[in-house]
Amino acid sequence: MPELPEVEATRRELLPAVQGARFERVTLHRGNLRTKFPRRFRARLEGSTVEALTRRAKYLLAHLSSGETLLMHLGMSGSFRVEFDTAGGAADAGLHDHVVFDMSSRATVFFNDPRRFGMMDLVPAGTLATHPTLSQLGLEPLSPEFDGAALAAACRGKKVSLKVALMDQRVVAGLGNIYVSEALHVAHLSPHRQASTIATPTGAPRETADRLVAAIKQVLEEAVARMTGELYRDARFRVYGREHERCLQRGCGGAIRRRTQAGRSTFYCARCQK
Ligand SMILES: [Zn+2]
Repeated sequence: MPELPEVEATRRELLPAVQGARFERVTLHRGNLRTKFPRRFRARLEGSTVEALTRRAKYLLAHLSSGETLLMHLGMSGSFRVEFDTAGGAADAGLHDHVVFDMSSRATVFFNDPRRFGMMDLVPAGTLATHPTLSQLGLEPLSPEFDGAALAAACRGKKVSLKVALMDQRVVAGLGNIYVSEALHVAHLSPHRQASTIATPTGAPRETADRLVAAIKQVLEEAVARMTGELYRDARFRVYGREHERCLQRGCGGAIRRRTQAGRSTFYCARCQK
C-alpha cells in the first residue's frame, strides 16, 4: 500500500507532465474506482490547466484554472505512468489503466489500479478548506510547521501508545505503519511508551518530541529520495519486516521484535528503544 513517500515521489514524477499543462482529453475506461467518478468529470477537466500539483497526507491535489481541485488517492494498488509523445495517446492504455489524461505538455498520464481502491474526485472552488476528509488532517510531517512543539501539543494528555498516536491522522497526517516503526527506531523511542510522555503537563515539548520529529522527517525524506532515484534504491528498512534480525543501531546487539498494536504489526528493538 503506498505510503506518504510513494505519494510524494509520484507527485514529483508527475510535475513535468502536468504542471502548467492543460487537459486536452480525458478518457475513462470505467465508471468508478472505489467510488463513482464525479458528475461531468471529463467535461469539468477538459480545457482546464493544472496551476499547481500539491500533496496533503496521501492525497494528490491538482489545482485547476477552473477553480476546482482534482483530488486523487492511490488506494491500495494505484499508480501513475507518464509517457511523452505516445503515438496513440489514450489508445495505448493497457489492462487496469482506468483513467488516461492527454495533456498539452504532450504527455499522456495513465492511472493504473488493479484493485480499484483508488479515488478521484473534483472539489468545487472555495470548498477545499472545509472538505470533510482534508480538514480533519493534522500537520504535514515534512512541513516547517511540524516541529517538536506541535507534536507535543498534539500528544499532550494522550493515554494511547506513541505508535498508535503517530498513526492517528489528526495528530500527524499521512504517516503509516512502516514509517512510524522506522522513525521510532531512529529516535530510540519505544512504540509502547505513552504518547503524553513526550510533552510536559502543560503541553510543552520534551527533548524526546524534538528527537522524534527529526526522526520522522529523516526517514520520510530518505524514502522519497530513494524512490525518486536520488538515493540508492536498495537501502533496507531499519526495523520493518526484520523480526528476529539484528538491530542495526551501532553497539546495540539487540534483535528486532514484532508486536501487534491496534491490529497492526510494530517492529522495534526493545534494547535501544526506551
Ligand atoms: Zn537496538
